[in-house]
Amino acid sequence: MTKKILVLPGDGIGPEITAEAARVLEALELGFEMETALLGGAAVDATGDPYPEATRKLAREADAVLLGAVGGPKWDANPREQRPEKGLLGIRQHLNLFANLRPALLYPELADASTLKPEVVSGLDILIVRELTGDIYFGQPRGIEAHNGERFGFNTMRYTETEIRRIGRVAFQAAQRRNKKLCSVDKMNVLETTQLWRDVMEEIAPEYPDVTLIHMLVDNAAMQLVRAPRQFDVLVTGNMFGDILSDEASMLTGSIGMLPSASLDENNKGLYEPSHGSAPDIAGQDVANPLATILSAAMLLRYTFQEEEAARRVEAAVKKALAQGFRTADIHAPGATKVGTRQMGDAVLKAL
Ligand code: NAD
Repeated sequence: MTKKILVLPGDGIGPEITAEAARVLEALELGFEMETALLGGAAVDATGDPYPEATRKLAREADAVLLGAVGGPKWDANPREQRPEKGLLGIRQHLNLFANLRPALLYPELADASTLKPEVVSGLDILIVRELTGDIYFGQPRGIEAHNGERFGFNTMRYTETEIRRIGRVAFQAAQRRNKKLCSVDKMNVLETTQLWRDVMEEIAPEYPDVTLIHMLVDNAAMQLVRAPRQFDVLVTGNMFGDILSDEASMLTGSIGMLPSASLDENNKGLYEPSHGSAPDIAGQDVANPLATILSAAMLLRYTFQEEEAARRVEAAVKKALAQGFRTADIHAPGATKVGTRQMGDAVLKAL
């Protein structure tokens, strides 16, 4: 079986951080075939298209895609069709990536980076599973219209039971790999769509007898995430609630340069990328933190290739590099050893 990984460095710090993650994947010697292609602003410059046909073809053929980030001021004034973000939305749509997985993990060494008290967040390790292709973000009808001389705006929240079932299964399976606790987040007291969400989660729960399912209303979930976030293991929710809660959860850790993400299709083909953007302010300076991208590569090993042991090795190597005191500028604190992008990659490789 071939194991094809497409690397899309993208823009800004993208090439620097994906280079480090690619070195880590190569060092594992698992027989990956890696190719590189253009996406985002770099693709616009070369071809006029943020998601060119050549990239599209390679993305279709690959088992997994590792992405840096796209965007930057250079392309902000472009027409919509030639904006880097169009490439990102394009590849997500093209690959049918309906499940977004965002871990929020706080390494004890970085507990001071959080805005919350260290005793509240130290050891935090949660996973948010967000549905990515449905809900009020895509529901029809939608628009802004005028009636009797007054404008009104409207959107439609909708989910089919098939959509809920497939994201539910991803979440239950993720919980099975972790601490076997799943919290489904909805607003069933007000919204019928999310009553169906809750009903379907209950219907599939018996397929996963080893996982404990609880339900929480979204307003309470938002509160609990800052009050006592360690009560959670895996959270699953719809597109809009997930958008908000996953950002809230990621900020609990305080260091955006540390957070990976995965977006999966029905066959575990995935797009893996750091949660941060292309950081044009520090691009090309060898100061960006490559750890979110290296941790995204660990998710790639786990979710697309079922290489759990290799994934854990990579995560342990990151932990070790931090424990040894290596820090890029964004997570640097007095007493630590300040390193650049490449040196941080070296430290992880050595720990590996
Ligand atoms: P950003 O995440 O790129 O940067 C925010 C701040 O965090 C900056 O100060 C940056 O230097 C810092 N930062 C980000 N990643 C870092 C890292 N790995 N190491 C050290 N510091 C890091 O967000 P932004 O400034 O709002 O956006 C910049 C560009 O990125 C925009 O063009 C935006 O559209 C794009 N963007 C892309 C994605 C993506 O590709 N998925 C996501 C968000 C933003």
